Amino acid sequence: MPPFFRHDSSLEHDTGFGHPERADRIRAIEGELESREWLGWDRVDAPEATEEQLLRVHPREYVDSVREHSARAQPFDLDTPTSAGSYEAALRAAGGACAVAEALLGDGERTGFSCLRPPGHHAERATAMGFCLFANVAIAARHALAALGAERVLVLDWDVHHGNGTNALFHASRDVLFVSIHQWPFWPGTGPLDDVGEGDGEGYSINLPVPAGTGEAALLSLLEHVAMPVARQYRPDLILISAGYDAHRHDPLGGLALETSSYGGMSARMRALGDELGAPVGAVLEGGYDLQSTADSVAETMSALTGGAMPPEVARHPLADDAIDVLARHWAL
Ligand SMILES: [Zn+2]
Repeated sequence: MPPFFRHDSSLEHDTGFGHPERADRIRAIEGELESREWLGWDRVDAPEATEEQLLRVHPREYVDSVREHSARAQPFDLDTPTSAGSYEAALRAAGGACAVAEALLGDGERTGFSCLRPPGHHAERATAMGFCLFANVAIAARHALAALGAERVLVLDWDVHHGNGTNALFHASRDVLFVSIHQWPFWPGTGPLDDVGEGDGEGYSINLPVPAGTGEAALLSLLEHVAMPVARQYRPDLILISAGYDAHRHDPLGGLALETSSYGGMSARMRALGDELGAPVGAVLEGGYDLQSTADSVAETMSALTGGAMPPEVARHPLADDAIDVLARHWAL
């Protein structure tokens, strides 16, 4: 049974009244999965990330500052409050992501899901922002590279917001191929198409901005005609999805137009890609603020990640043509 990492500490990170990134997100997801008998997945309590895991990405002073802010319930900024329970929640959100990597590369699982909060993809090396404290996916990728034998990790970020933290952490590295599809122009403002990384990492950041209102046809095309051909050339040992659900058309923050089934379509393509490349595929929860759409879309993701065949091919979208024009300097597209 594929592991679904979760922990009650995710309910104790209190962001205050009216904050979209709230404990009810986890309750909604788990309530929906409960009604579907967890889709046959195995619920596992997420461990706390170890100091070793955290310090591969964040300086010790920053880890201390997350603990201290949490103890004082002091916000990092207006978007990113903390409470007494935030430090443990953040440790387990990072630990759950690492546990997915261990299940996939250590225990031979084909897929896994880390469903904890706070999210992580906006957290930079020493900066909390955008509801994020620790850089969960980046910590898991580093753990896979440093301790689990991976040589190349693909991180696909389909959250509606650009994963500025993950992008910055691997900007000059080719150990991680970072692919982000995000609304543009939009907060946090990073991730234009021509940001392809730097130095050794030039060509290994794939930023695919899309305008407000964009729907499934473009996103599936960007996966099929850009991200997947690049991934076949990159040959990752592990695929991690920064799985945000705020590109759903019902999301109150995002302005894209995905359907619940679109998450199944994207997940099925990553599943088939992983099978083709011999790479397991794990997902780590990021955003998603319409409770029922997020819950249903998580279930769609999990179903597709345990599935099989590649979905039928989609047409090449003009946004894919634009991306290929830029990325053909770095990859055979
Ligand atoms: Zn987001």
